[in-house]
Amino acid sequence: MSDITQLRNDFPTLKQTIEGHPLVYLDSGATSQKPQTVIDAINRFYAKNNANVHRGLHTLSEKATFNYEKVREKMANFLHVNATEIVWTSGATESINLVAAGLTQNLSQNDIILITALEHHANIVPWQQLALRTKAKLEVIPVNEQGCIETTQAISKITQLKPKIFACSHASNTLGNIQEVEKLIAKAKEFGAITLIDGAQAFLHLRPNLRQLDCDFYVLSAHKALGPTGLGVLYGKYDALNALPVYKTGGEMIETVSFDKTTFRQAPAKFEPGTPNISAVLGFGAALDYLEAIDFGALHQYEQDLYQYLIQKLQSIEGIKIYGDLKHNIGTASFTYKNEHHYDLAMLLNSYGIAARSGHHCTQPLMQTLNLNGTIRVSLAFYNNKADIDRFISALHECIALLEG
Ligand code: PMP
Repeated sequence: MSDITQLRNDFPTLKQTIEGHPLVYLDSGATSQKPQTVIDAINRFYAKNNANVHRGLHTLSEKATFNYEKVREKMANFLHVNATEIVWTSGATESINLVAAGLTQNLSQNDIILITALEHHANIVPWQQLALRTKAKLEVIPVNEQGCIETTQAISKITQLKPKIFACSHASNTLGNIQEVEKLIAKAKEFGAITLIDGAQAFLHLRPNLRQLDCDFYVLSAHKALGPTGLGVLYGKYDALNALPVYKTGGEMIETVSFDKTTFRQAPAKFEPGTPNISAVLGFGAALDYLEAIDFGALHQYEQDLYQYLIQKLQSIEGIKIYGDLKHNIGTASFTYKNEHHYDLAMLLNSYGIAARSGHHCTQPLMQTLNLNGTIRVSLAFYNNKADIDRFISALHECIALLEG
């Protein structure tokens, strides 16, 4: 079993100084750092194995195709689904857009699309556009004053509204809250809703079993789970996925083309026109291998302990207010300090080598609900340690002293 405290040594970006201080990377919610094995896999492809997939009969092309398709199987195994249910996209954003565009024919005027108040813009705007196209109504499950979805309230909202589509994040990118999506999906399905879960934040920390969750669609981004940018996953239950119309069109996704008519392949090929992001898929394959080799129970416990350590330290500073559910959380703390602007604090923290995020975190409606113009967000991953948190807290004390003059 790997020693989790040693894993940070596998991440070359963490071994640097920023502004003369050792980097303390607390922005994994924006994108995770990459282990050397992922960087090596991408380099190896371009240095030794570069060829296009699904095309040539020559050795390199066959090897590229084999390795590329093997990662699809790996991803499917990771999520406990079938490889034919995995579509490679450019990111969680594109995955949601693909589904929202594809459901246009499923909606009529006044049908309900139900989302929650804490969604990332990527899980709001595509649904809003779908509502505009179809004259359906976009309805929202509210959050409480801490920014949390209360499951019983959410369930009664689902019961009351009987949505045609239910879309919800598994974990909030701004607050880290974990939603009880399994219960919400089950309720939405009682009314025949099509369900989509945004797992962009949750995947790395929760390793969801999608057969158990039983949602129709689940989306994630490779770059938030140790993989490269420019790659996302759309999981869809095969029939639900295959029922979606084509999204982007071009080569590879077709069966036959004439100037009169084109016929398309079945999912997943149907949704993957053109040359895919081969190197990213191979890099993500290395990320999945890396994750698989770590005992998940131990990793999860480590992350949770670290998060509680962070929360305890933050709570000991007078004037800090932390939002969100501090018990069911992937390891993200979003906070304000009195009336100080989040931007000033984040800038000052950077001068101490602390990489934290400030702003609305692509959740403007959530910020409006909480009556905030932004927060400082600290998002952890297993390559962080208590020393990172101690450095962050000590820098935070100094920044506060500077701000208070
Ligand atoms: N949903 C959530 C919850 C996210 O955190 C993000 C990225 N911040 C996205 C969707 C969009 O992911 P991407 O930018 O990789 O497409």
